Amino acid sequence: MSSNRPDFGIDLPNALSSAIAAIEAWQESFGRFEPASELAVDPAQWEHHLEDFLDRLTGNQYPFFHPHYVGQMLKPPHPVAVVGYVATMLINPNNHALDGGPATAAMEKEAVSRLAAMFGFDGHLGHLTSSGTIANLEALWVGREERPGAAVAVSRDAHYTHSRMCQVLGVECIEIDVDDAGRMDLDHLSTVLQLHDVGTVVATLGTTGLGAIDPLADILPLARGAGARVHVDAAYGGFFALVADDSDDGIASRHFAAISNADSVVVDPHKHGLQPYGCGAVLFADPAVGSHYQHDSPYTYFSSDELHLGEISLECSRAGASAAAFWLTTEVFPLTGDGLGRVLRPGLRAARRMYERLEASDSLRPAQVPELDIVGYLTRATDAGTVDADSVRIFDELARRNRADQWHLATYSMSLADLDRRGIALTGDQSRARILRSVLMKPEHEAVVDGFVEVLEGQVASTVTA
Ligand SMILES: *Cc1c(COP(=O)(O)O)cnc(C)c1O
Repeated sequence: MSSNRPDFGIDLPNALSSAIAAIEAWQESFGRFEPASELAVDPAQWEHHLEDFLDRLTGNQYPFFHPHYVGQMLKPPHPVAVVGYVATMLINPNNHALDGGPATAAMEKEAVSRLAAMFGFDGHLGHLTSSGTIANLEALWVGREERPGAAVAVSRDAHYTHSRMCQVLGVECIEIDVDDAGRMDLDHLSTVLQLHDVGTVVATLGTTGLGAIDPLADILPLARGAGARVHVDAAYGGFFALVADDSDDGIASRHFAAISNADSVVVDPHKHGLQPYGCGAVLFADPAVGSHYQHDSPYTYFSSDELHLGEISLECSRAGASAAAFWLTTEVFPLTGDGLGRVLRPGLRAARRMYERLEASDSLRPAQVPELDIVGYLTRATDAGTVDADSVRIFDELARRNRADQWHLATYSMSLADLDRRGIALTGDQSRARILRSVLMKPEHEAVVDGFVEVLEGQVASTVTA
């Protein structure tokens, strides 16, 4: 298929029609009623509003779907998820409680069990959330309830929301230094564990910036020795557990295998799980932590004695459509190395290829070896001001080309000290410089990565400031 509307073998209009027809038939079966005239819209006016809206939506927008979008962690959901989501949205179940949506609550439990199996959890308690941020908040909150008054330790390259959520929770947040590849520094962690009462250590498997993998297998014994819980933030990297097989186009198994010994883990199906926003997930290894969620709500819980997801969730209303879309996706792309894992391997190959090309390039250099599918890179200028200006100029110029020739990158700000630790010594008075960053998260990136590096090199050549 070389169409510019990637359908991946799914006839979307046809599938959506089938879904709408099935739901209409279901609605019909409950007997007819008179729709409210107050909700009726004027067809001509509607046409006008729709046209305006679609113009506005597509008039000024980045092409996340296209392989030339090599910027942030953004891509459209798979059509399978779109069909699952839209069909369910027409019913609009609320996965807060079983009487809000029995079918989608059951799908959520199944999908979460599949995530638990992916991480090697024996038992588990878990659910979907509206985002990774909320999922992490929930894990940190359970950590606070388990170890009241104790601090959270998190690497300084971890997602910025951890320190924010520590503020929300009123918990001290201690930043742990990182090594020369952005991974949690074990010596510094040991020192902090000796000097402070740490209740939870957060290990990130796949940092948002450069995809670094904190050494979880080594963090676990240190944390356990100090009586601390271990939470794994795998919001971005979690699905790479499917390819953590030590193969050439997979990743090292050691730290991913260790997730099964952690206390909790977060993964975002809306990042590498082919889902639309908001679909995060949090899983706890010990179902007994569910006791922290006890509350008394006069509104919900009527239909059944079975577990209500609302009883083990910080949030109240949650889209049943998210659960349905993710469940359907895991039916089509099972959470196995041959299922969804196959979708992740091309991005890993592309990132490694890009790294090799940058190593060999005269005008560009990689910031570090990519552990996942995220590549940081910069020009070979030697002063920080030029590197920074080059990054911004390349970013701007590639984005401002004609649509068919555009490329969309991201910039990433790094301290000169952190660059220096990577063997990149830049001169200049400033303390930081922006480098370029590309997330090669679409399997289509593999086919374009050589051309991409050539485009970058061409752009450096046409913008040298010297
Ligand atoms: C994206 C991300 C988050 C935040 O998740 P949202 O779904 O954007 O709220 C947290 N941690 C890591 C490592 C992430 O990549």
